[in-house]
Amino acid sequence: MRKVVVISGPGLALGEAARWVAERAGVPCFGLGDLMRKYVQGPMGEPVRRLVNEHQRVPDELMAGIVAERLVAEEGGWVLYGFACIVVQAELLARHGCEPNSVVEVVLSEHEASERLKRTCTQCRTSWHVYYRLPRVAGVCDLCGGGLDLPDEVIAERIGQYKQHAESLRTYFRERGVSFETISDPYIIET
Ligand SMILES: [Zn+2]
Repeated sequence: MRKVVVISGPGLALGEAARWVAERAGVPCFGLGDLMRKYVQGPMGEPVRRLVNEHQRVPDELMAGIVAERLVAEEGGWVLYGFACIVVQAELLARHGCEPNSVVEVVLSEHEASERLKRTCTQCRTSWHVYYRLPRVAGVCDLCGGGLDLPDEVIAERIGQYKQHAESLRTYFRERGVSFETISDPYIIET
């Protein structure tokens, strides 16, 4: 049974990449955002709904429980994205009985990642994308009219931060005997 966590750095459409992995593995794909939205609408959702309404962070522990509850029901395996992006979350997932047996890291070249990040709106932070989500007017955010030109140092910081997380995750999973595979973005289009 394949239990896969998909992670990726900034500039990548993680959901798209995860669905690509899931299709090839022949298992259903789950994203943290969808799982949380469904949970909040359900009969047990009230406490989490309150946190979200008050703009408070939902604790990792709580998210791990919600994610695991859904995944253990999938007897044929699963692909998960959006959670276990940092070691603390990966540990919690394992404690809730949902350790993956493989992790797929989807990567972009640093050049490509910064090219894509440059298309993030400086005002509302919406990410536009040359392939998945192209703004109507080049260089201008459809939603707020802001410029799509994230400063180089912000881009470098986000890429650096991701690299650190990915490195810790790689060490963590390898120590636990979980395979850790790196692939290039399946939808890569050089810009
Ligand atoms: Zn904007």
